Amino acid sequence: ISPVPSDIEISRAQTPKPIDVLAKEIGLLQSEIEAYGWNKAKVKLSPLDRLKEQPDGKYVLVAGITPTPLGEGKSTVTMGLVQALVAHLGTNAFACVRQPSQGPTFGVKGGAAGGGYAQVIPMEEFNLHLTGDIHAITAANNLLAAAIDARILHEGSQSNQALYNRLVPTINGKRNFSSIQLARLTRLGIQKKDPRQLAPEEVSKFVRLDIDPSTITWQRVLDTNDRFLRKITIGQSNTEKGFARECQFDIAVASEIMAILALTNGLADMKTRLGRIVVANDRKGQPVTAEDLGVTGALAVLMKDALKPTLMQTLEGTPVFVHAGPFANIAHGSSSILADKLALKLVGKEGFVVTEAGFGADIGMEKFFNIKCRTSDLKPNVVVLVATIRALKMHGGGPNVTAGKPLSKEYTEENLKLVTDGCCNLQKQIEIAQLFGIPVVVAVNVFKTDTEAEINLACQIAKCSGAYDAVPCNHWSIGGRGSLQLAEAVRQAADQKSSFNYLYDLKMPIVEKIRTIAQKVYGAKDIELSPQAQSKVDLYISQGFGELPICMAKTHLSLSHQPECKGVPTGFVLPIRDVRASIGAGFIYPLVGTMSTMPGLPTRSCFYDIDIDSDTEQISGLF
Ligand code: ADP
Repeated sequence: ISPVPSDIEISRAQTPKPIDVLAKEIGLLQSEIEAYGWNKAKVKLSPLDRLKEQPDGKYVLVAGITPTPLGEGKSTVTMGLVQALVAHLGTNAFACVRQPSQGPTFGVKGGAAGGGYAQVIPMEEFNLHLTGDIHAITAANNLLAAAIDARILHEGSQSNQALYNRLVPTINGKRNFSSIQLARLTRLGIQKKDPRQLAPEEVSKFVRLDIDPSTITWQRVLDTNDRFLRKITIGQSNTEKGFARECQFDIAVASEIMAILALTNGLADMKTRLGRIVVANDRKGQPVTAEDLGVTGALAVLMKDALKPTLMQTLEGTPVFVHAGPFANIAHGSSSILADKLALKLVGKEGFVVTEAGFGADIGMEKFFNIKCRTSDLKPNVVVLVATIRALKMHGGGPNVTAGKPLSKEYTEENLKLVTDGCCNLQKQIEIAQLFGIPVVVAVNVFKTDTEAEINLACQIAKCSGAYDAVPCNHWSIGGRGSLQLAEAVRQAADQKSSFNYLYDLKMPIVEKIRTIAQKVYGAKDIELSPQAQSKVDLYISQGFGELPICMAKTHLSLSHQPECKGVPTGFVLPIRDVRASIGAGFIYPLVGTMSTMPGLPTRSCFYDIDIDSDTEQISGLF
């Protein structure tokens, strides 16, 4: 239909096929799915074992040029591409995408299901509670937070013996150790046949974690943009005996448990990762973990259903896995490894799995390769690099845009000079993908104001800059058939020989790994660590965490650290303000500038437009 209706009108006009029908179509057994209503199902991990002899399909990553307020439409391209592959070319294909946070849904960005005639449906279910994974993460995260403060209170107000008696009660004359406590005894090297006989110094070692409250890095989380929780004081009631301290809430998707869900390879691995989460240091500077607090098993129990990807579908009835959605700055920003692995088995050798990296290729794709692929051992076959003419024009020097105001003529009328100038950013992002040895197909996501000459120009420059192919796509306005050229190009590129490699060796010193990313990917002259950053690097090395990959927390709005620098900035020195660690997820994250982990609500938030009809229960306003 022209003009293209709103995303939610399109979504609502299509009746999704029952989820058990879709599951059967893609080769899942009835016993392998757990339906959540008619339109969603959790998929168990057992098909990974059933299909283990089956070769994987082709693995395609959708990344973008440096984002601008004008958007590029990576999710839309992901959906358009799989719709083209399945519904129009008859190939097996799966899209694997992130679950959006409810923060931006009600705040500033709106939904994230793709858009136009290339989206996940029903989009209101996709954008709201889905199957409760984010709630599970919130529950697990906050249980761990509660365990930390309760432990400090109990240790601070009881003698060693009283603590021991409460932590390990005597039942029928025997100390009743939990398995987690017995494991702790072993870790501490306390191996008595009868643990009743612990010497006083062993009791002290066992019961006292001696957490230094000033080093606590574990925060409480909530999936709401609630800026007033950015800094709070907890423990102010008299019952907490003066153990008050300042801390903060983060948005739930910034929880390390979300990053763990995205990176884990299964239940056993998730338990290991949850257990090794470092929440603070003790007063001797040694890391204190979730396992030390005895909470690993409980966290895994809370997360057991979240571990299973949620099956949904596109507007054209092709399968989509929605699973995990870690923050794209303090974490790696990609959907889960488990969903990708399941999908790669389900599509079979000739099929395609299309997944996305958050932000621009310099951030999302670099982390996808160096963190996600390293953890999963999966090797991608093709990168689809999404660009829009409007965003290229902004990189070429086009004026800034103000939300709610009409776009200036530079963006609505033909301007070949701005397109040519802005292609420097596209060229740089192609070069970055090539550093990893993967063929690149550029997808120009066509907006109705783009002219043929502008589109041809961008495609030509992309091809001259080393892209395997560059094509326009019109899935937003006409669905999968608008992305047939892209699907063909991806199919051919996937047959090319690729020589995938990581950018750095994990054994390189932390600072060298950061420098490699800054120089080779961002184009920085060098890096400069603050004294605080340097002392954290030294601390992590001394604690044995020096060989983890790096997850840069940098603005996504520029290749440099300065969001206003569009195009391809050069000659800058990248400042590293602080360095932090997510040991459970398995990466070190340097902070370039300040990163907010709790977004706020703007004056005109999306929630003003969101409503439900009391008679029909139809939701409006979710785009
Ligand atoms: P990203 O994944 O890069 O954040 P999305 O694919 O979610 O971007 O798209 C963001 C918004 O832009 C959606 O509301 C979508 O409908 C809109 N959009 C995407 N492509 C087009 C297009 N070609 N024309 C008009 N609107 C588009």
